[in-house]
Amino acid sequence: MDFELSREHQALRRLIREFAEEEVRPAARQADRSSQPPVEVIKKAAEIGLFGVPFPREYGGLGAGETGYCILMEELGRVDTSFATIIGAHIGIGAMAIYLGGSKHIREKYLPDLCSGKKIAAFALTEPQAGSDAASIKMRATKEGDSYILDGSKMWITNGPLASTMSILAVTDPALGARGGATAFVIETRDENGQTTEGFTPGKYEHKMGLHGSPTAAISFDNFRVPQENILGQTGLGFVVFMQTLDVGRVTLGAATLGGAQASLQQVLEWAAMREQFGKPLAQMQSIQFMIADMAAETEALRSLVYRTAWLVDNQKPFIKEAGMCKLLGSEIASRCVDRAVQVLGALGYSRDVHTERGFRDARIAEIFEGTNEIQRILIAEQLLREVGVRIRP
Ligand SMILES: Cc1cc2nc3c(=O)[nH]c(=O)nc-3n(C[C@H](O)[C@H](O)[C@H](O)COP(=O)(O)OP(=O)(O)OC[C@H]3O[C@@H](n4cnc5c(N)ncnc54)[C@H](O)[C@@H]3O)c2cc1C
Repeated sequence: MDFELSREHQALRRLIREFAEEEVRPAARQADRSSQPPVEVIKKAAEIGLFGVPFPREYGGLGAGETGYCILMEELGRVDTSFATIIGAHIGIGAMAIYLGGSKHIREKYLPDLCSGKKIAAFALTEPQAGSDAASIKMRATKEGDSYILDGSKMWITNGPLASTMSILAVTDPALGARGGATAFVIETRDENGQTTEGFTPGKYEHKMGLHGSPTAAISFDNFRVPQENILGQTGLGFVVFMQTLDVGRVTLGAATLGGAQASLQQVLEWAAMREQFGKPLAQMQSIQFMIADMAAETEALRSLVYRTAWLVDNQKPFIKEAGMCKLLGSEIASRCVDRAVQVLGALGYSRDVHTERGFRDARIAEIFEGTNEIQRILIAEQLLREVGVRIRP
């Protein structure tokens, strides 16, 4: 067993950490206050290759695999969850669906521009009536000659207003339902000049509790044409492509929460060493030491789980159960850690002048998106019970 990262992965971490500290961190507060994505920082991230970290070099990526991608998300999660979410939706689900489901031709056509950051990707699954029950989507794709016509709307789409390339799931055969009658497509929603494609309308930004720097919006389609060759996977089996994509995305969402938990721990350590009450530093008080120990133990356990699961992915071993655990544990650990950080910082932790307050609001979402934690518990139990011959879903 070797727990050391390769020299390449260590170098990648140094590069990303420097970028995160010098570019992402300084822009985070303004993005949070203005509820606008840090467009210039996004461009710089693209310039140094961060948009293609996991993908093979033949498609313009850095070829750093899932482990490299986890490093990216951990380092971004350490400084700004919103920025990590923009990159996560682009790489981990938007572009990943194209990589996992696309033919060689489709990969070659779309991935280079996504890896270079020339184009931003989104992943469109959720609809007003279809959240956890993703199989209840209603968006239609109707065949017309060599094309499909998309009609319907999607909700809560990260990067929805920014993206020009999207992976999207629509029903092609209502009689079969989404599990056997939904098809995944890659679509182009904006041209080179940023003009929206005919039939596509992005909605306004959602007002959210946190993640203000990460744009989320409803999007709608009316008579939107997509060529048949843009199908990801097989006709009728798009649900599989989308679920496989989310499995991979959950590992790196776990990595982003690891970064958040680590940042909270670091902040508590520094503050406890400095702040004095009753004539001694907080660090001398046992209740504070207990919080530090719990945060460190949970963060370290999460680190092991995330990087072991990334290793499973990179070595083509089964990882679905572990991916659910990364997302489930990671989101709850990050929420607990930032909650403790607010407590240890006292009034300062409640102030908008320190980033703990933003971290507190931002952390909550990881328990909800990419499949809520209740759904993760069901998925994990389902995998375990299947191993002993019990099926809990048809
Ligand atoms: C900021 C943000 C960004 C997002 N980005 C994207 C994106 O890029 N692309 C995309 O497609 N979607 C995106 N989403 C949507 C997100 O994935 C959904 O919100 C999520 O899957 C939950 O769906 P819902 O909100 O409709 O909740 P519901 O499904 O309505 O669930 C409500 C509650 O009921 C619980 N529940 C539901 N079913 C069960 C069950 N069977 N057993 C036990 N409990 C259950 C849930 O766990 C939850 O607690 C985003 C959401 C947000 C808030």
